[in-house]
Amino acid sequence: MGKLLSAILNALFPSGQSKRDRPQAASAVGHWLSRMPQLLNMLRYTLNALQQSEVLDYDPFYLHITPAEVHPLAISQAITSKVRAASDSDQTEIAETGEHPLRSETTQAVNLQSFTFLLEQLPGILAIDFTGQVHDPLMNPELLDMVEHAYRSSRVESTVYTDGFRLKEFADVLVSSSLHSLVIRMVGHKPSAYSRLTGKPPQEFLALLENVKALVQRRGEVRSQLAIEISLCMDIHNFQELPEMITFAKYLGLDGLRLENYLTPDSMKSDRSLYRHHNRVVHFLRQAEQVHHQEQAQKDAIPFTLKMPSLLDADMSAHRYCRDAFNTVSVDAHLNVSACSRHALACEPFGKIWDEDFFNNAMYQWLRNVYSAPSPSKQSFPVPSACQNCPKNANPH
Ligand code: SF4
Repeated sequence: MGKLLSAILNALFPSGQSKRDRPQAASAVGHWLSRMPQLLNMLRYTLNALQQSEVLDYDPFYLHITPAEVHPLAISQAITSKVRAASDSDQTEIAETGEHPLRSETTQAVNLQSFTFLLEQLPGILAIDFTGQVHDPLMNPELLDMVEHAYRSSRVESTVYTDGFRLKEFADVLVSSSLHSLVIRMVGHKPSAYSRLTGKPPQEFLALLENVKALVQRRGEVRSQLAIEISLCMDIHNFQELPEMITFAKYLGLDGLRLENYLTPDSMKSDRSLYRHHNRVVHFLRQAEQVHHQEQAQKDAIPFTLKMPSLLDADMSAHRYCRDAFNTVSVDAHLNVSACSRHALACEPFGKIWDEDFFNNAMYQWLRNVYSAPSPSKQSFPVPSACQNCPKNANPH
């Protein structure tokens, strides 16, 4: 709720601390006209918030999009149906390459035209995250056109999450675009850490490092306002290296550091993840965070944001903290709709962005029942296993 409120206020009343000179770019009248749909949606949200029903009368506030990638379940559904109908030669191709041709078809599926249509279905959107695990968003050649369109048409700020391997190639266009922020998933802060956490050669880290340096340098040369952050993976083996990680990010001239708790690829519980019952971990992280705040409070401190990892609980079967079903729409490259921004829930139906009232489809209603306070008068909806080890469902207190 706090995050939502600040995003709404930021969108409606951009402050002098805003990264961009947004209000001056448009006339005052144009500014308010472009924000009118968001304002109306906020009003509908306020009227609706008290009900907390599974059917909502407002539109989502956040768009999470994988512009060059489809939901894993959509891939498996498509593969199943295609394999059923496939000729022997198709099946040979799968066996030989280990990858179905549909996977390569997923890239570049969202273009500016379909994105424009997508935004027309989402008048209340305040912020967009472009991401992708298999296909980096920068693989979509129209990505920055979409970012530009979102900003020009509705003053919506975009964040791109990237693996960083194409940064040198895109440095010039990134720093001159309307992109608000870029998060580079560096995973590790030194070659050995990168290699341990990704299983990839340490040389790859050095290439990534060069890319980040080149981008930051280019940003400085053209005095771009683009915010650049990195994300690093933190586990039980490296949490004590936090001060080193902060120093590394500051040395690179970045605006912030995001720390992600270690998760297994299939989101299963792991001894390597950080838990709230690890007193040693909690104590260490709290102290490091305090030091960071003290440094930031000093007069000449360069602004630097530090996002600490979300610590898990050993038993999250009663956790009902995730708010995705109430404020977010997640869309893949084929405009399939999901109520889960991590694409971790394998449930149907997906729905398409052009479906009437997709925000109240069966998947959204089910997930809202899961994430509403349990009531004796209602059937109780157990927390899905994927949510029981998900940082978005971690206890925020
Ligand atoms: S808590 Fe569940 S619904 Fe929310 S993001 Fe995680 S897996 Fe998806």
